[in-house]
Amino acid sequence: MIESSSSRQTPVSGSLGERRIGIVGAGFTGALLAVHLVRQARTPTHILLFDRSGRFGPGLAYQTDDQSHLLNVRAANMSAFPDQPDHFVRWLDPLDVSASGIGASGQAFATRGQYGRYLQDVLETARQSAPSCVRFETVAAEITRLEPTATGHQLVDGDGTQYSVDDVVLCLGNFPPRPPALTNPTAFDDPGSVINNPWDTAAIQAIRPDQSVLILGSGLTMVDVVVTLARQGHHAPLTVLSRHGLLPAIHRACPPWPGFVGKTALPETISARLALVRAEVRRAAAQGVDWRSVVDSLRPYLPDLWRSLSLAEKRRFLRHLRPYWDVHRHRMAPEIAEILGRLLVQERLTLTVGRLVELQQAQEGVVATLRPRGTDTTTTLTVDWVINATGLASDIRQIPDVLVRSLLRDGTVRPDPLAIGLDVSDEGHLIDQNGQKIPGLYALGPLTRSSWWEITAVPELRNQAAQFARLFTGSAHTRKEPVGPLKP
Ligand SMILES: Cc1cc2nc3c(=O)[nH]c(=O)nc-3n(C[C@H](O)[C@H](O)[C@H](O)COP(=O)(O)OP(=O)(O)OC[C@H]3O[C@@H](n4cnc5c(N)ncnc54)[C@H](O)[C@@H]3O)c2cc1C
Repeated sequence: MIESSSSRQTPVSGSLGERRIGIVGAGFTGALLAVHLVRQARTPTHILLFDRSGRFGPGLAYQTDDQSHLLNVRAANMSAFPDQPDHFVRWLDPLDVSASGIGASGQAFATRGQYGRYLQDVLETARQSAPSCVRFETVAAEITRLEPTATGHQLVDGDGTQYSVDDVVLCLGNFPPRPPALTNPTAFDDPGSVINNPWDTAAIQAIRPDQSVLILGSGLTMVDVVVTLARQGHHAPLTVLSRHGLLPAIHRACPPWPGFVGKTALPETISARLALVRAEVRRAAAQGVDWRSVVDSLRPYLPDLWRSLSLAEKRRFLRHLRPYWDVHRHRMAPEIAEILGRLLVQERLTLTVGRLVELQQAQEGVVATLRPRGTDTTTTLTVDWVINATGLASDIRQIPDVLVRSLLRDGTVRPDPLAIGLDVSDEGHLIDQNGQKIPGLYALGPLTRSSWWEITAVPELRNQAAQFARLFTGSAHTRKEPVGPLKP
């Protein structure tokens, strides 16, 4: 594991003529950006990679040691490098293939913990092979503030230590879910009965097998929670409550389907585009081809499909279509689906469609008031635990992150028009409250969701990190090239 190499308590200052770059966040995006910058820098460069967790590479998604947490993308498509598609599968080969059955084709699903170790290894390899003009440091610190200086930016951490840099790239990644809107919101703060962060492994592990649980949300986050509980031998009732009652679809090996977008002029509305996809699914089905092939064939066209929508149509997508898109696009490994299916058949897991209205503490547990979908009536359910697995928080205005709040407050950044991330230019420049690009301040990864929509999974993020590094180090042809999810 790569640990912090910087224990200094004094400000970092670079040597003369050295370009200093601060990368805030060392999940997949920040780590891969650092790797590309180390590889491509040809002039004196000092890279500072910050992460508050003290871990460099795994980020939120791949820090888990739970063997039942599998990747939701096949190993063959999880290489860190767009130009070396088999890099991850080859890395797995000597260590894990026989144990995990992934095989040389990489068609199976590795564990997320394995992937986290891979990313740490990729970062360590880059550090060891850094050219002499590059200094690369990892810093275990939470950046809480950013201040402009005459020549760049000052990053300030929670202890007040300042780091002076020329450029800053925010790779803050994903944020845990926000609490649901309840008639009595403070009830959700009780740590004795509510787990608000579904990735808090210690909290989930503390649930006894005989304790009943209400899980809010039915997406991949819920799936993580359920498989962890199942692995712990949990046997009390599990209730999943979700507004739409949609479970993630299951991965299946499918033949590729030829791209069909762009063959005719694209309709303007999201509903007409949905009709186009549905028609293609029917055409595929008539030839015995599964809908998954059609959905997957959209991948290279997604940036264009998103960017060519008007703001009103994007809003319509987010309001009406997003839950359906998510379950079809972000699927679960068959092994995981089997666990879930078994629990459903055995009625140890129940899926309820509706929403949570209120929570009340009672002697026998926590009483949840639920409103089933399409009714005006409510029912109650008494459980030992409530877990918030409603998925990643996306409204940037509601996120209680110290750095994001401080940047929004002082106008250094502004929410994008949909408030699903920050406003950025096509080249990744952050835009301030006056609509101006801030020199030397950038964002990559899920924070740029509004520009690209699908900029969440590794296959898209690896392209964005590689493109940004090429532009940044001047190794790309033009600085006007967009920094997006498509292959560079
Ligand atoms: C549970 C889960 C499972 C997933 N599984 C898959 C999968 O199987 N396949 C796939 O392709 N994609 C998957 N994804 C999508 C995932 O978003 C990407 O694959 C990728 O990991 C995102 O990386 P990131 O670096 O952008 O964000 P993150 O992984 O969220 O990393 C951001 C990092 O920034 C740090 N940070 C944030 N703010 C600060 C600050 N102020 N100061 C210092 N450090 C800070 C955090 O500590 C964190 O380490 C998954 C996502 C989740 C949440």
